[in-house]
Amino acid sequence: MKHYDVIIVGAGPGGIFSAYELGRRAPQLSVAVLEAGHELSGRRCPIDGKTVKTCIGCRPCSIMNGFGGAGAFSDGKYNITNDFGGSLYEYIGREEALSLMHYVDEINVENGGAGTQMYSTAGSPLKKICMQNGLQLLEASVRHLGTDINYVVLENLYAKLREEADFFFNTHVDEIEKTEEGFRLRAGDQEFTCRKCIISVGRSGSKWMESVCDSLDIPTRSNRVDIGVRVELPAAIFSHITDALYEGKIVYRTKKYEDLVRTFCMNPRGIVVNENTNGIITVNGHSFEDESRKTDNTNFALLVAKHFSIPFKDSNSYGESIARLSNMLGGGVIVQRFGDLERGRRSTVQRIEEGTVRPTLAATPGDLSLVLPKRILDGITEMIYALDRIAPGTAGDDTLLYGVEVKFYNMEVELNNDLETRHPGLFVIGDGSGVTHSLSHASASGVYVARKIAGE
Ligand SMILES: Cc1cc2nc3c(=O)[nH]c(=O)nc-3n(C[C@H](O)[C@H](O)[C@H](O)COP(=O)(O)OP(=O)(O)OC[C@H]3O[C@@H](n4cnc5c(N)ncnc54)[C@H](O)[C@@H]3O)c2cc1C
Repeated sequence: MKHYDVIIVGAGPGGIFSAYELGRRAPQLSVAVLEAGHELSGRRCPIDGKTVKTCIGCRPCSIMNGFGGAGAFSDGKYNITNDFGGSLYEYIGREEALSLMHYVDEINVENGGAGTQMYSTAGSPLKKICMQNGLQLLEASVRHLGTDINYVVLENLYAKLREEADFFFNTHVDEIEKTEEGFRLRAGDQEFTCRKCIISVGRSGSKWMESVCDSLDIPTRSNRVDIGVRVELPAAIFSHITDALYEGKIVYRTKKYEDLVRTFCMNPRGIVVNENTNGIITVNGHSFEDESRKTDNTNFALLVAKHFSIPFKDSNSYGESIARLSNMLGGGVIVQRFGDLERGRRSTVQRIEEGTVRPTLAATPGDLSLVLPKRILDGITEMIYALDRIAPGTAGDDTLLYGVEVKFYNMEVELNNDLETRHPGLFVIGDGSGVTHSLSHASASGVYVARKIAGE
């Protein structure tokens, strides 16, 4: 049995920044971080496109689990905004949320991110152009670390943190129990106790988080799911947006259903990648800061949010079912030319090869209209034509659509404004709380709770 003042469950951005801030503000406290995945250097996804082509279901998954969490191999886009990426501001206030996101940015810059660029929508003429075309450009500043520099920052942070906290990798916490003095955590045959506990288990820990809320009688609320496709097109088509903003977060209200469709995770001259969430293969994208690793294509997601409440309320299962359907038909991710979708026919290897856009992900050519519900597909198609007005060529025949992209959100855990559950001393932060959905919000929530524990 090992005892600590504070135990952090999960070493994603939320857990990392909690540990970092506890080290600065309360160095007298003993801190342990329990992480289900490997340490950073041991994280390797076996998919190499040759011997291992698709996900073989490693446990733990090196993409989602381990030091750095789900964001370790991400594009490292730290968006500083209250307009998207989570609702942290509802708990801690808008100014505090922004100030913590800036603080996180400073730490990233100090730890290897210097030299990367910060982009901003402030004063952008694109705002007006979007408005004139029925689109809304959301406000944000974004630091783009890039997959490569993001990794360097994590390496540097780990080198510091391991001096200040005890890290236990390959340590999946199975149970949390409340005791008189605090909490007891069981991980396999190991037991830990602590006075205070910060849970930061991200998306991959969503099912486990539900079981903890059940066992400790913590109320939860269902959250939404975002479903759509990843668009890939020649980088030149979007360069006037991406050169100025790096990422344009653009929202469109469809004429047919008045649904909101939004762009998400834009990767200028990046690559499209597979993502594995609990064994389901979906699509994502990222890009590198290193010039030699840039491609000729830009990719971004187009997503429609769905939130179910009565009688069915499991929004995530709805998203999972659609993703499973694409996995069943395509053996993984499906790719289709926009021209084929509009002509009501599937894409084939030959049609893709004859196109002018070279796919950066080896996906199965197919027909997304057999996978995505009509309402969602109609919304996406409408938005592609709306984007074509500000970035002509978006609705080109050879534009590639990969499906499906699903953004799962954890159920919202009932928390007070300190991000503390009804059990004093038990905090839930990051994406696992349902409050955040991004690197910057998850990291900021970690700093916030650490300061609360340090007594500020
Ligand atoms: C491919 C990809 C690209 C992305 N790109 C971006 C981007 O550019 N910008 C952006 O803002 N966001 C991006 N995101 C989202 C971002 O990564 C997450 O919002 C962020 O990582 C959330 O941080 P977190 O600490 O809450 O959770 P996570 O990063 O998910 O970390 C949680 C950690 O907890 C561990 N864990 C789970 N259960 C347990 C348990 N029971 N016991 C012990 N440990 C456990 C997991 O192994 C994991 O390491 C991306 C995500 C992916 C997958």
